[in-house]
Amino acid sequence: MRKLLAVLLVALVGLGLVWFLAGRAAGPTITLASPSSVIGQKTPLKFDVYAPGGALTDMSVRLEQGGQATALGTLAAPQALKVAPGADRVSVAGEIGRSVAPGLKTGTATLVIEATRPVLFGLRRVSSVVRKDLQVRLTPPTLAVLSQFHFINQGGAEVVVYQVNPADVPSGVRVGDREFVGLPAAGAGIPNAAPGLRVVFFPFLFNESPAAPVSLWARDEAGNQARASVDAKVTPKQFRKSTIPLDDAFLQKVVPAILQNTPDLQVADANDLLGSYLTINRELRKRNNDTIRQISLTRSAKEILWRGPFRQMMNSAVEAGFADERTYTYQGKDVDKQVHLGFDLASLQNAPIHAANRGVVVFAGFLGIYGNCVIVDHGMGLQSLYGHLSSIGVQEGQTVEMNAELGRSGQTGLAGGDHLHFTMVLQGEFVNPVDWWSSQWIEDRVMRKLRAAGAPAVAVPTP
Ligand SMILES: [Zn+2]
Repeated sequence: MRKLLAVLLVALVGLGLVWFLAGRAAGPTITLASPSSVIGQKTPLKFDVYAPGGALTDMSVRLEQGGQATALGTLAAPQALKVAPGADRVSVAGEIGRSVAPGLKTGTATLVIEATRPVLFGLRRVSSVVRKDLQVRLTPPTLAVLSQFHFINQGGAEVVVYQVNPADVPSGVRVGDREFVGLPAAGAGIPNAAPGLRVVFFPFLFNESPAAPVSLWARDEAGNQARASVDAKVTPKQFRKSTIPLDDAFLQKVVPAILQNTPDLQVADANDLLGSYLTINRELRKRNNDTIRQISLTRSAKEILWRGPFRQMMNSAVEAGFADERTYTYQGKDVDKQVHLGFDLASLQNAPIHAANRGVVVFAGFLGIYGNCVIVDHGMGLQSLYGHLSSIGVQEGQTVEMNAELGRSGQTGLAGGDHLHFTMVLQGEFVNPVDWWSSQWIEDRVMRKLRAAGAPAVAVPTP
């Protein structure tokens, strides 16, 4: 009897210990991704709650300010929150701000997230709570267009000078549904610029509708937005159509060389020259253009490096223009269609290729359909590209003056004969170089606006 009592006592103590320890287990882990510090009218709310098996018994979200609490949702009644259970976590997304808490005032508010998970086979529960103080900012940024006369060629570029307040919010130009970023005016050579003075160089895509609206955008951390329309006149351009007949000699010349230099490109059958060519012309072209886009968006200086009009390859014949629509034929049948987003300029074999303007080399190497290729950054989102070179004479990181030799022309990549493929890239998009070759365009479209905004008169050097 006494033995039995002792066993029962030990069992009871053991159970009590298990019960006690279970209650001391860690609660769910709550990680808040957004907001980070500021909320406004409508700010994204995003957080994850980690628990074994994604099992939660409860979760609640509320916003507190001045003793008032606004419930934003619970596990049982999520309201506007989107609750997505996963294998080891529950992901929650929604919005926070005056849109869901109409009484919210400028000042400080506290976001409170609580979560509870089951332990000990669901017999006990453990909780966690996260409290995050947030600044409430309800006034949207303001925008004012300062430059005048925005005349844009479809497929070309344009400049807007504007003022944004507060000075630290991201802003720029929107064309249709594409956004481009404005940079502090000091980068455009405007000394003592007001803190929110911005200059944006932006592309108007060749395939954008000429009727697409052009406006300024600004968006603060709290998600407050501003918009101001830009008075812009777009000149529609007719782009040429051309036909490129493919023959076996050409395919034999370009396909194996590109495949050899691009081992990670998957083709169904390397012996099928036309099939491989089409993979190169479609997939590799897209991949190469993505690389160019990334270089343009991530490797451009915050200030203008170029001076005066850009230089066109000397004594060259134009073999193909910007945005020519090319139909490729093989044995009389249409096999592909692509848009040629550059100029093909031919002169002599192995002709010296010069930098079109001052800048920094940001790419020098083999780039698929462009063969041996050099990209020069001219700052504030603008870059120039030189393709099909036989040899490259510069290195990445090197500063080059206008006319510096970058290499020699050739026919590497997708090239039928020795020529230079030249194009310009602005904020990730190909733009027609013709504008940049014109001293009148540089003066009217760029220099006049920068001077009006306070830049000193810049003499345009003749190339
Ligand atoms: Zn070309």
